Amino acid sequence: MSQTEVLNNSAQYIKGVGPARFKILNRLGIHTVRDLLYYLPRRYEDRRNFTPIGRLEVGNYATVKGEIIKLNLWRSKRGLSIFKTAVGDESGALEAIWFNQPFMKRYFKVGQEIILYAKVEKHRQVQMNSPEYEFVTGKDSSLHMGRIVPIYPLTTNINQRYLRTIISRAVESFCSYIPDALPYVLRKKLELLPLTLALRSIHFPQDVTARASAYKRLVFDEFFLFQLLLALKKSHRAKQAQGIVHNMGGKLVENFQKALPFKLTPSQEKVIKEIENDMRASGPMNRLLQGDVGSGKTIVAAYSLVLSVQSGFQAAVMAPTEILAEQHYLTLSKLLLPLNINVGLLIGSMALKTKQETLKDLKSGVLDIIIGTHALLEENIQLKRLGLVVVDEQHKFGVIQRSLLRKKGEIPDYLVMTATPIPRTLAMTIYGDLDISTIKELPKGRLPISTFGVKNEAIKDVYKFIREEVASGRQVYIVYPLINKSQTLKLKAASEMYNKLKQEQFLSLRLGLLHGQMASGEKEKIMRSFKQHKIDILVSTTVIEVGIDIPNASVMVVEHAERFGLSQLHQLRGRIGRGPHPSYCILVSDPKTEKAKLRIEAMLATSDGFRLAEQDLDIRGPGRFFGPAQHGAPELKIGNVIRDMELMELARGEAFSLVRSDPNLRAPEHALIRQKLRERFGSENIGLLSV
Ligand code: ADP
Ligand code: MG
Repeated sequence: MSQTEVLNNSAQYIKGVGPARFKILNRLGIHTVRDLLYYLPRRYEDRRNFTPIGRLEVGNYATVKGEIIKLNLWRSKRGLSIFKTAVGDESGALEAIWFNQPFMKRYFKVGQEIILYAKVEKHRQVQMNSPEYEFVTGKDSSLHMGRIVPIYPLTTNINQRYLRTIISRAVESFCSYIPDALPYVLRKKLELLPLTLALRSIHFPQDVTARASAYKRLVFDEFFLFQLLLALKKSHRAKQAQGIVHNMGGKLVENFQKALPFKLTPSQEKVIKEIENDMRASGPMNRLLQGDVGSGKTIVAAYSLVLSVQSGFQAAVMAPTEILAEQHYLTLSKLLLPLNINVGLLIGSMALKTKQETLKDLKSGVLDIIIGTHALLEENIQLKRLGLVVVDEQHKFGVIQRSLLRKKGEIPDYLVMTATPIPRTLAMTIYGDLDISTIKELPKGRLPISTFGVKNEAIKDVYKFIREEVASGRQVYIVYPLINKSQTLKLKAASEMYNKLKQEQFLSLRLGLLHGQMASGEKEKIMRSFKQHKIDILVSTTVIEVGIDIPNASVMVVEHAERFGLSQLHQLRGRIGRGPHPSYCILVSDPKTEKAKLRIEAMLATSDGFRLAEQDLDIRGPGRFFGPAQHGAPELKIGNVIRDMELMELARGEAFSLVRSDPNLRAPEHALIRQKLRERFGSENIGLLSV
């Protein structure tokens, strides 16, 4: 049997795993011997020295060892069953309490030794609430006692001692069968542990340092493999790709620049250079343009569109909402029509006839630029010569099916834009095979936005303030979390509030209503009116969250602000502060949960999108930052992109340099890496390595 075959053996191969236990292990995702070896501890307990019970500190987590002195099971007046034990050592005693688990009494006996782990509390007495526990027995003491002991994630009908025992058996017998794919030279250079040793130490570390080194090695492996995949994808694309060469000469770009209503910021100049270089090259461009809300990404996109058209190509722009697509259509038409560039719009809810005409004009080449939503992808559109695809607000799209617009023949250049600023390493992880350009600063002359948190009771004052702002010529957004009142949620909703505000608060003002369920023509009309200042107050839902650009709007009121996510609030606030007027963001809320409070506080503390993104990560945890299917990147099991950021950078550097030096991983010392890549990422990616 080869080494791999042994590792692929059923976990039943291990003594103590029968068919019944095997089923339980399956629930933990453990099927093979390898799975057992890679089933990692959730935490550790240092059982070399226990904290004496008499010296526990309230509020800290602690592990104690003691003897069961007393047992007590009873029912409270409200019918709750309470199981309480007193556990003591030489220094003192504490109470351990479990609610509604009367069956536990069966397992506990006075005089038995027990280990408890929980947060230390003090009510009448020092206490642990539903602690994790493990009985101490005479046998196996060297595995479960007197050392740093691994604590694994469990499921019902399986306990720590059992799992620890069989994992220890697997480690003893099969750890050395795990092939170490990391080339020796690289391992030495980075001073990483051999894999066998790392696996042994991650389960049963000698000390804290040994655990840290083991963790580092395993996380490096995981990140390295992931970055190798990205590096391979990128080099594969560069090789195979017959990209488009955009020719840079011509009057269009020059005229466009001359007609710009403002001077570009240094960041805009810089990213335009980067984009230009990509577009001029023969390989296809794959670039992510990051820039905070209001940093001026649209004009950069417009510039690249003009470049493409000047070179005789057509270009497409995709936006996540119809409203935004329409806005781009208006903005870009205004900028580009004077240059004789024809711009078209294609969205799902358009009249069939208009749509057909647009499709015809695209095919014949009459239209130079097409702007749309997903409809662009869904329609069977044919372009004469597609040169560039721009995707705005990429984070709103979810997984982008780049291939759809990439029909046969030449591969168009590709520019994605996002206003979700994320730490660089995270961006590299998520958009890892894209090149990244960042707009760092906002255009000059912007006044800072003042943000206020206001309680529901003070809403009258807010309305008064709105009237004053409108009187001085400004426009206002008021955003609600719902379109219509719902039965279950007692929240104000946009439709109802629109009528109410019109009749009760803003009698002489011009109000508009905008939400996602309105017909497209209706939405467009409202947006146009707001833009032309025929509407003073736009009552809306989060449909205006992304992209909308009305410089005269200076007030953003968000009601029930506690219902919105941090990035949503930041995006909403980004709708104001776009012109020369002082702007005000007013968050009306009654935060009940701790997280909601933190979000509002973060909004009041800073308007820096980068910092907010980091706080968002803090509040939510990195896993939830992007929806799971958002980026299509494989899930990381061991490492954490935020906490282990430096390791990710290290792994990236090494992975990319390895692929540069051995693009198909042909060298004998890379054979195992090849194999691992296949195992990890499956057959669809095998094609990346031409055999
Ligand atoms: P976003 O990056 O959020 O998409 P936009 O492209 O909508 O930002 O730009 C925000 C506003 O800033 C727009 O009104 C735009 O015309 C303006 N703007 C963009 N670049 C500059 C600049 N260099 N100087 C002044 N205003 C600018
Ligand atoms: Mg934008």
